[in-house]
Parts: sequence; C-alpha cells; structure tokens
Amino acid sequence: MLHLAHLMDGTDVMVAVYDQDDRLRFANAAFRAAWHIAEEEHPLWPDLMRRNFAARRGTVIAAEDFEAWLRSVTGRRGKTGFRAFETDLHDGRWLWMTETMHADGWMLCVASDITSLRPDERELRQARDMAIKASETDDLTGIASRRFVMSKLDALVKTTSAAPPAPTGQIASVGCIAVLDIDNFKYINDRFGHSIGDAVLKNFAATIQRLVRKTDVLGRVGGEEFVLVLPNTTTWEAEAILSRMLTEVRQSRPVREQASFRYTFSAGLAGARAGDDPADLYRRADLALYAAKMRGRDQIGIDAEGPRATG
Ligand code: GH3
Ligand code: MG
Ligand code: MG
Repeated sequence: MLHLAHLMDGTDVMVAVYDQDDRLRFANAAFRAAWHIAEEEHPLWPDLMRRNFAARRGTVIAAEDFEAWLRSVTGRRGKTGFRAFETDLHDGRWLWMTETMHADGWMLCVASDITSLRPDERELRQARDMAIKASETDDLTGIASRRFVMSKLDALVKTTSAAPPAPTGQIASVGCIAVLDIDNFKYINDRFGHSIGDAVLKNFAATIQRLVRKTDVLGRVGGEEFVLVLPNTTTWEAEAILSRMLTEVRQSRPVREQASFRYTFSAGLAGARAGDDPADLYRRADLALYAAKMRGRDQIGIDAEGPRATG
C-alpha cells in the first residue's frame, strides 16, 4: 500500500476520512495543508472547524455565531449517502467537495480545486445551494426542517421493504422513529409568554441534538413536536437513548431569570416493519406518544405491537 500513500500525498486533491464520532482518522497532505492540521493530529470535526473559524482560515463560514452555524450543519452532516457542494477557503481557493457516507457512520471526504471553473456562474450556484439549505433547516431552532426529517422517514421505510426477512424467531431491526412533544407547552406559553416559549423550543432542540448520533436525524415538524429517525436501531436501543434525553431535558434550566423554571417532554416510539408506509409508522409512534401523555407525561410510550417477528 506504499503506492497508495505516495499517490495520496502527491496529489492536490484533498482526501479525508472521518469515523462515526466525526473524528478525523485520515487526511492526506493537501487536506492537512488546506485545513491546517498537523501530521499526527486526529481532531473531531467540530473542533477543527471551530479553531479554524477563530483563526480565520480553512473554510469560509459566513456566520456571526459559530455554535449556531455548527448546530445547523451537524443537523444535516452525514445524513445523506452522498452529498456534493461548493465551498471556499480563506486562502481564496474555491472547492468542489463530496461527502460519501458508509452505513456505519464513517465518511469519505474529497475536495478538488475548481477556482478557475465558471466563476461567472458561481453566485447563481451558491444561491441555489443556500435555498436548498434553507428548505432543509428549521428557522427557529436551526435543526433539520420537517421536509428534511420526513424525507429520512421515507428513506427508512424504503430500506424496510428492501431488507431481507430476519431468520425465524428473530426481530428485524431496520430502524425506528420517535415523536417527541414538549409537555404542557400551551401552559408555558400562556403563563410565561411566547418569547419564553420560543426559548424553550431552542433549548429543547439544542439539548436533544447533543444526544443524537451521527446516523440519526432530528427535525422539528411543527409547533412543539419533533421527530427523531433512528436507522439500524432496535426499539430497545432507542428507548435507552430517549431515556437519556428525558433526563437531560429534566435537568435543563432554559430561563436565566427564573432559575427554577423547568420543563419535560414525552415521546412515542415505533419500530419500522416490512410493508409499512411512512404514514403507518408515524401513526404508531403518535399513538404511543398519546399513551405516554395519558400515563402522566415525562415518559416514553412504545408501540405495543413492536416490530413483528418475521419468518
Ligand atoms: P401536551 O402536554 O398534551 O402536549 O400539552 P401541550 O400544551 O404541549 O399541547 P397543545 O398541542 O395543546 O399546545 C401546543 C401549543 O404550542 C399551542 C401553541 O400555543 C404553542 N405553539 C405552537 N407553535 C409555537 C411556536 O413556534 N412558538 C411558541 N412559543 N409556541 C408555539
Ligand atoms: Mg405538547
Ligand atoms: Mg403537540
């Protein structure tokens, strides 16, 4: 593999590999030079972007608030099998970048210099990319939009119909979805006002997003209702993740002026089954949510039928 190493370090094409935790596991010389990474360094992607943003080098990030930018990008980063986009560097270079995802969360990143390619059409291309990004982002919270998370729900259901049946007696676990809904939100709005309500929504999205794995997608689907899509996950695994989320939200104090203000949410969880259409799966998660609300809120409801054993 010596040839591969020589080719990698001899090319101007920038190549990098990130693992499921978004840690840089490999970068060739051109990539390390562009993003100012030392030879034996393996930073997490958010840390790499943050330090380059502070030093005004690497990728040009057109945002005032880096953390808000990061939240919005993490909501979409690595959630699509393949993605290609243009990006510019502080050194003046213009790049065509591709991201290829493996199902386990590893990502191959390849960028080439297209500085001399049709610069006259660049603004148009960038405007198009901005419009796509806007349609995939929820304005208030910066996480994925309804449109984006629903497209992931569709994709999950499609894999379910394509998946081979599980061996006899075993349960196929292609994935599941959870509907998350803030408890007594109308009361929060009425009692504390709409701006506190909005602050709670932002706090909720940021708190949950921190616990969302790279292969999962969290989106806001309306008012105070959110959907979490978890591919390749059993309902047991998803329940453990949701329990952590319940705990974190219980402990968060989103209103600085009222240190005792707290809130909770409830979740409905349903596993995808062969033959489901997106509406079926959503309905079962929604019924499970309703049951959790009826039992007193601040808890998880699990679709009683569960994923059907096949074979
Ligand atoms: P439950 O525990 O059963 O979910 O009760 P709830 O009060 O949370 O549910 P309900 O659906 O009755 O109320 C949701 C309220 O959310 C209604 C509306 O006032 C408020 N709301 C919807 N969208 C927004 C928003 O974008 N910002 C704010 N601040 N409030 C919103
Ligand atoms: Mg509610
Ligand atoms: Mg609701």
